[in-house]
Amino acid sequence: MNLGLTRRAALLAPLALAACRGGAAASYDGAWVGASHERGHLLRKPAAPAAPSVTKRCAVAIVGGGVAGLAAARALQRAGIDDVQLFELEDEAGGNARGHRMAGMACPLGAHYLPLPGPDAHEVSELLHEWGLLRNQFGRTVADERHLCHSPQERLWMAGQWIDGLLPPAERGSVREQQYRRFADLVAEASRKLGFALPTRRAAWTGGHAALDAMTFAAWLAAQGLTDSGLRWYLDYACRDDYGAGSDVVSAWAGLHYFASRHGFHAPGDESAERDAVFTWPEGNAWITRKLSAPLGERLHSGLLVQRVQVNRHEVELDVWSASAQRSEHWLAQQVVLALPLHVAVRVVAQPPAALVDAAAQVPHAPWLVANLHLRAPLTDKPGAAPSWDNVLYDPGDSDRAGRYALGYVDAMHQSLRPVAGPTVLTAYWALGERDAAALARNRQALLTEPWEAWPRRVVDDLARAHPDLPAKVVRADLMRYGHAMAIPAPGVRGSAALRALAEPEAGARLYFAHSDLAGYSVFEEAFTLGDAAGSAAAKRFRS
Ligand SMILES: Cc1cc2nc3c(=O)[nH]c(=O)nc-3n(C[C@H](O)[C@H](O)[C@H](O)COP(=O)(O)OP(=O)(O)OC[C@H]3O[C@@H](n4cnc5c(N)ncnc54)[C@H](O)[C@@H]3O)c2cc1C
Repeated sequence: MNLGLTRRAALLAPLALAACRGGAAASYDGAWVGASHERGHLLRKPAAPAAPSVTKRCAVAIVGGGVAGLAAARALQRAGIDDVQLFELEDEAGGNARGHRMAGMACPLGAHYLPLPGPDAHEVSELLHEWGLLRNQFGRTVADERHLCHSPQERLWMAGQWIDGLLPPAERGSVREQQYRRFADLVAEASRKLGFALPTRRAAWTGGHAALDAMTFAAWLAAQGLTDSGLRWYLDYACRDDYGAGSDVVSAWAGLHYFASRHGFHAPGDESAERDAVFTWPEGNAWITRKLSAPLGERLHSGLLVQRVQVNRHEVELDVWSASAQRSEHWLAQQVVLALPLHVAVRVVAQPPAALVDAAAQVPHAPWLVANLHLRAPLTDKPGAAPSWDNVLYDPGDSDRAGRYALGYVDAMHQSLRPVAGPTVLTAYWALGERDAAALARNRQALLTEPWEAWPRRVVDDLARAHPDLPAKVVRADLMRYGHAMAIPAPGVRGSAALRALAEPEAGARLYFAHSDLAGYSVFEEAFTLGDAAGSAAAKRFRS
């Protein structure tokens, strides 16, 4: 089979379908929002920076204002290093965890939840205690319920009805039920024998982990005889949701880590199962990044593209392009924290170290689409589980549908306490990760070049499977496209020696790397811990 051709057809298919369904295809008002790829792509053909009129100085420059960069700034400020300047490309800091507003309603542009931190995520726990989201009471850690996802949390659209939870149902004694139990046992065994932690740096890396990292999750599942379509759909969905690409793309290490580093996998009916509690906000994790940004005040410089970072013997030079002022700036810093994705960092650092060059070549990135749909009225619901925060549509596995990239939607008004449902914003997520570089590039290109109108139509068409009244209720669609949203933990990525080297700065270094890419995959806990570690290491150097 020519996979490439099939997948290209997959992207175009819904447009054709929309036209066939009779009459003109629906069109929506809206726009691309949230990011300027033109600004970021200036790095591809860097012009010689115009001679800046002044040179500015600082103790520490942080490049990149995502979760990692903001965590580094917080660590430095807590260590008493105040002369910290943070440079962020976009108009607002937050990176993949930024927010948006439609008709006065807050909604996410990317990351939208944070699970209750596990026992290894000390730094995240500490942050949440500091902010009062967690507190200790009678020897237990208690979460502030106002920030926890309200019930019902999630539901699955399958066979014409909504089902509570995300696991396809299994009859008692069925093959599916047996396979759920077997997978749960395998996760528990891997957890016991090998050890998994979140953040990953808190777990040892053994030969057993390396063996899992050498094959795809799909190949590992097949080797265990785990072939049930319901189980495989769910695991594929989980991989796309966390890693931006399916179980045939990510490593078996990543597939198991998803469950083993959290609360395991629980088959339906497992009495010990607790539904994972998560913090969420209407604007998603922008609630967190805005709170992290606030103390920086004027030391946060947004709309600035850092074009070149040159490490010299006594200081680090930075060439910065201000998009708003359309002028170059020249900065000298004693130390720099580079909180950038690897593919950007390797372009920015003059004479990049070998580990950075290797890591940038090894780590693929998944494109994502986030579509915020403003609805003039609530949807008429179908039978089954009640409207939830996270609403996922089962995909029967027809690989020719563009919608197979879709992960469902969250309702931005779910956390509101209004007594009666009304207008809302649904945020739909599509993870466009693929197996090979050519397919990835094709999806990225489609996001960049296909007409804007095609994308809301695809998203709405997909959700209309469960919500036939959706197309008529969409007032506006604001879409955020990410060309290189997150690292895909494909085989070999997590075990990469180059990644490990970047996360462990040499003594006396002036350049510290901090970005979720260094973990080989992207979640808040990894980004925050890596940023905190880089900021703390930079602060320590001032004391030594
Ligand atoms: C659609 C989507 C949904 C997600 N959902 C969740 C979720 O619900 N929960 C969760 O835990 N994680 C989620 N994630 C993962 C998310 O990526 C991490 O949680 C985290 O936000 C990553 O932070 P980071 O700092 O590592 O990277 P980034 O967010 O990539 O930050 C890098 C920053 O560097 C800036 N930058 C880039 N180049 C330059 C330059 N040359 N000069 C200056 N600045 C530059 C960027 O603009 C960006 O702000 C999601 C990711 C995506 C894409």
